[in-house]
Amino acid sequence: MLESYGVITSLTPSCKWTFPQPYEGGVHIIEGQNGKELVGNLLDFRLKARLPIGDPEREVAEYIKRESPNNARFAGTGHRTRAEKKPVSTFTPLIERIRTTMTALIDAKPRFVSEDEADERAKACVGCTHNVAWRVKDCGPCNSHADYLALVLRQRHSYKGDAFLGACRLHDLHLGSGVFLDRDFLPARNEQSPAPCWIGATPKV
Ligand code: SF4
Repeated sequence: MLESYGVITSLTPSCKWTFPQPYEGGVHIIEGQNGKELVGNLLDFRLKARLPIGDPEREVAEYIKRESPNNARFAGTGHRTRAEKKPVSTFTPLIERIRTTMTALIDAKPRFVSEDEADERAKACVGCTHNVAWRVKDCGPCNSHADYLALVLRQRHSYKGDAFLGACRLHDLHLGSGVFLDRDFLPARNEQSPAPCWIGATPKV
């Protein structure tokens, strides 16, 4: 959400809800009725134009705060008194963690295993307590972005295990794509993994 980047979304920015997207040597202005729609439209544009996805939410937030300071909730380090300061949270939501993992895996150009092997791995995950839902309720573009990364990563639209596979919270892995990847490219096995876990102890690369 833009609010989590310090944007006041109840005010219309002086630049309206727009974002200048560099495109084909010029600039294409992306518009929205509000901040959420703007982020969604930016993501859609990049997907359709086959541009790098980037981080639409963060980029829109930084642009709006720069162009329209009235929308910047966090005015600076002197904004709060010492007593008002809250501890900084180090928690990263699972959807962010799997997006980070998938982006790195796409860059690594991993090898694939057969569908039979993927099925065997999926069976272990289906019964595992660490296979959990990763979608978030309040950010459709975040969910779409993760779906898009999974599609690019596994290079197939659907898999019969999709209905039963979420994400592995131990390995920050989108399971519907992760089960298709050669172990060499996956994270090392977490010591808390249950015995049937198929993740290898040490990746080779
Ligand atoms: S710990 Fe292993 S078996 Fe369990 S969900 Fe994660 S990858 Fe699958």
